[in-house]
Amino acid sequence: MAFVAQVKTQLAILLSATCLFCFAFTFYASDIPVDYTNVIIEGVMALSCLLLMFGVHGVRENKPIYRLLLLSSSLLFIGHFIDVTDEYIQPFYTLDKLEDLCQSFGFLLLLLTSARWVKYHRQQNRKMKYLAETDSLTGLLNRRAFSQNAQTILDDTQDSKTSISLILLDIDHFKQVNDNHGHLTGDHVLCTVARTIQATLRQEDLLARFGGEEFVILLNNTTLSDAKQITERLRIAIETLQIPHKNTRLQCTASFGITSLLSGDADITSLIKYADEALYQAKSQGRNCWCISTATI
Ligand code: GH3
Ligand code: MG
Ligand code: MG
Repeated sequence: MAFVAQVKTQLAILLSATCLFCFAFTFYASDIPVDYTNVIIEGVMALSCLLLMFGVHGVRENKPIYRLLLLSSSLLFIGHFIDVTDEYIQPFYTLDKLEDLCQSFGFLLLLLTSARWVKYHRQQNRKMKYLAETDSLTGLLNRRAFSQNAQTILDDTQDSKTSISLILLDIDHFKQVNDNHGHLTGDHVLCTVARTIQATLRQEDLLARFGGEEFVILLNNTTLSDAKQITERLRIAIETLQIPHKNTRLQCTASFGITSLLSGDADITSLIKYADEALYQAKSQGRNCWCISTATI
């Protein structure tokens, strides 16, 4: 029953076409011999268009494309259907013209619809990719996308003897921000810190939200000494942030773990593990500071 409700337009077209054929056959039966080759070829084409006509309800979520597909497949079906009936009834001018019009408009419309369908799918794929790779709160890369992108960078630099550094940072006492000012303010602080980190980094650095109030940065072609300078810049940028909230300004700090390896020796899991150990050390040394992993070159 649900199927019938979904395809009632298509059923109406099919029923009207069949009735018209029966009517025309009864009153205008042709005495010219039937060309069965034409009947078979046009019959197959009409059947294909009929299947397309009934299949379009599968794209109902996109109304404009659904309507265009329904219209083009219906026109094509009617055009080919008339071509089949031509063999059984006396040919006449109006029917011939209708057949030509249906076939040519139906074909043009189908081309247009296919182009729109491809464009729509491209947009959907881009949207899905963005959603799959992006952290919805901060707009930064998420952890999974970071790991994939970082691994690609590491694979590309496998043979070179350049340094690659990784910084893991965690906002200090962030739970207190939530407890004292509410979760929404906590979200706002997270976004502000994310924007500040992004603005402090170079274009080629890979930044992501690692989880909760933690961020990770991969610095390609960057020595330990450069990574230390970048980290200090980040630490000061976060420490000096003044985030307006009600009648006051909120401030926060972050702790950092740094690791640096030769690109040929580095894999993303070890880089994160070493940086995490260093971050743990920074926390135990009083926070708002950075530490270097002992595994670092
Ligand atoms: P530490 O200095 O040791 O890192 O202390 P902390 O309070 O920052 O760390 P803890 O792990 O105790 O708490 C992290 C808090 O971050 C708890 C959690 O509710 C909060 N958090 C994680 N993700 C989000 C988020 O998306 N939005 C908000 N508002 N809070 C979050
Ligand atoms: Mg924290
Ligand atoms: Mg944390």
